[in-house]
Amino acid sequence: MAARIIDGKQIAADIRAELKKTIAQLVADHGITPGLGVVLVGDDPASRSYVTAKERACAEAGIYSDDNHLPADATQAELLAIVERMNQDPKIHGILVQLPLPSHIDESAVLLAIDPDKDVDGFHPVSVGRMVIGEKAFLSCTPHGIIQLLQRSNVQLEGAEVVIVGRSNIVGKPLANMLIQKWDKGNATVTVCHTRTKNLSEHTRRADIVIAATGRPNTITADMIKDGAVVIDVGVNRVDDPTRKRGYRLVGDVDFGPVAEKASLITPVPGGVGPMTITMLLYNTVDSAKATIQPG
Ligand code: NAP
Repeated sequence: MAARIIDGKQIAADIRAELKKTIAQLVADHGITPGLGVVLVGDDPASRSYVTAKERACAEAGIYSDDNHLPADATQAELLAIVERMNQDPKIHGILVQLPLPSHIDESAVLLAIDPDKDVDGFHPVSVGRMVIGEKAFLSCTPHGIIQLLQRSNVQLEGAEVVIVGRSNIVGKPLANMLIQKWDKGNATVTVCHTRTKNLSEHTRRADIVIAATGRPNTITADMIKDGAVVIDVGVNRVDDPTRKRGYRLVGDVDFGPVAEKASLITPVPGGVGPMTITMLLYNTVDSAKATIQPG
């Protein structure tokens, strides 16, 4: 069997088009323009390009963005003052502090300072706690993006055996918690694996859906999945490639070619999970703006 490709770029574009309509309606009917406050500290090239992509995505969708770029030696107090100003600003519905922060700044103190009602990254402990107990919460963007990819590809989640490989706070743990909820995005039976898991392939071979989020190329090989499994590859890894002008190429955590021969559906890298993360950030920002509509 040759797997169908889950086209993350197309699904992300579909969601962004839906959001654009919702935003136009929010402006027309309620005079509300969703606003995202972004803070970047320092000049890390990866963070800078990520933030630029977020700002561009906001502009394309019609979201107002308040961009704050601070030098690498900015103090924690300066950063907290910006967060506090954005907490109070009614034009800002979502706040995003780009991680990682320079080592002299206490990352968790900064994340805790964000008003949970504007925590569109979904990393604040209040957001995580609300999600885990099944209350309405901002869902963190990469795991929520993965669920959207599955749902929009008509993959049945209810009753599915899902094996997630990786237990980070940004992917594995929140994703597992979303997928076990008693709701339309969940009702799956979830196993979370990691480096101390015994016989990883015994778990993955059982799975209807395998989700790899390890940051290691070839963690999932064809012998580790069952025929017809759905495979989601979250990994983004650089491997040397002298044939490319830039000297490397991006690969995921899955041995794509052989696994695609056996799977029924698979995400590519790039072009799978990646485009969904920023899209779900826009989604959360619009959701937050909607919550400010006054009744009547
Ligand atoms: P992370 O914090 O490094 O966590 C990796 C997890 O994978 C850990 O739980 C680790 O287990 C587990 N692991 C590593 N090697 C393993 C192996 N051989 N067998 C079983 N488990 C293994 O990584 P992350 O932040 O979750 O990111 C994972 C990957 O996703 C990275 O490539 C990252 O770039 C990518 N990512 C992509 C997006 C996107 O938008 N596309 C977003 C986030 C992350 P232990 O806990 O035991 O160490």
